Amino acid sequence: MRWQRLLSTIAVAGLLAGTSGWMQSPKGGGGKLKVYFVDVEGGQATLFVTPAGQALLIDTGWAGNDGRDADRIVAAAKDAGIKKIDYVLITHYHDDHVGGVPQLLDRMPVGAFIDHGPNREEGGAAEKNYATYEKTLAAAKAKRIRAKPGDVLPIVGMKATVVSADGKLIESALEGGGEANQYCKDTETRPADPTENARSVGVAITFGKLKVLDLGDLTWAKEMELMCPVNRLGKVDVYIVSHHGWNQSSSPALVQAIKARVAIMDNGAKKGGSPSVIETVQRALGLETLWQLHFSEESGEDDNTADEYIANLERPGDGNFIELVGSGDGSFDVENSRTGRVKHYGPSSQATSH
Ligand SMILES: [Zn+2]
Repeated sequence: MRWQRLLSTIAVAGLLAGTSGWMQSPKGGGGKLKVYFVDVEGGQATLFVTPAGQALLIDTGWAGNDGRDADRIVAAAKDAGIKKIDYVLITHYHDDHVGGVPQLLDRMPVGAFIDHGPNREEGGAAEKNYATYEKTLAAAKAKRIRAKPGDVLPIVGMKATVVSADGKLIESALEGGGEANQYCKDTETRPADPTENARSVGVAITFGKLKVLDLGDLTWAKEMELMCPVNRLGKVDVYIVSHHGWNQSSSPALVQAIKARVAIMDNGAKKGGSPSVIETVQRALGLETLWQLHFSEESGEDDNTADEYIANLERPGDGNFIELVGSGDGSFDVENSRTGRVKHYGPSSQATSH
C-alpha cells in the first residue's frame, strides 16, 4: 500500500507539471480523495485531502498531553504531502473538538476556521474553550467563516454541504434525499439537548459519487428533526459515527435511513463505542463494515467489531489511524494503519439510485 501510494504520488506530480485544472473534477482526473481518521483518544480529528491538494480538517482533538493530538494531525498531513491546512472546521466548543486549536496553530498554518458562531452553552468548560478559541484566532489573525445550513464550503476538489449548524438544519433535502423515512415510527423520541452538541456543524461531503456524512456530536432529538418525517440526507456510502459512538446519538431514524456501506467510529477505549450504537450500526441494512479507532471497553468482546477493523486494541493506544482513499466512481479503500491491511469497497450504486 505504501509503495503504491508513492507511485501514485509520482504520477500526480507528473500530471501537475503538465496540466492545470484537471484535478477539479474527480471524474476527469482520476485523482483520489484521502480521509485520515486521526486517533485523538475519543475526540474528533478527521482530515480530508482532495486531489487538488486542499485540506479540510474537521476538529482538532484535545488540548494538553504535550500536543499529542496536534502531533498526530501533523503526521497525517505529512503522509498526505501537505504543509498547510486550508480549512479547519470546528463542529462545536467541547474540549475534544476545539481543544487542540492552539497546539495545531503552533505546528501548522491554517487558511481559515469554520464554525457555527458563538458558543451557546452556559457555564462549564464550553465558555472557557470558546474564549481560548477566540483569543487564539485573534492572536494568529486567522480568518473565520461562519457556517450556515445550506452553505457549500469553499474547499476545492470535493463538495461539502453544511446540513446543520447552531441548532439549525437544512430546510430542503439534499440531492438523493427527500423520501419519507420509514424508520421514524420505531425510533423513540428524546428531549431536546441544551448543550453545544446539538449545535454541531454537520456536513455531507460528496466526491463524485462517493458520499460521506459527518454530523460531529449532533444528538438524538436533532437527528430526528433532520430525518423525520422526511429523510433530508438520502443515502451515504460512509457514515462517520456521530459523537464517537456514544448512545446520546445515532438514532435508528438516522442510522437506518442513510444506509451507509461503511461506518467509521472515532471512539476512545473508554469514550463512546456504546453497545447499543454498535448494534444499531451493525444491524443497519446495507452496512458492510464497522471500523473503530479503538476497542471499546464498555462493549467488550461481544459487541466490538472484529479486531481487524479496530485501529487500536490496547489502552493507551499507539495512535494508529484509519485511512480512506476514495474515487469519483464511489469506490474506496479503507486501511487500518495498525495492520497495514486494506479492504476494498466497489463503486457506489447509491448516488444514482434516486
Ligand atoms: Zn465529542
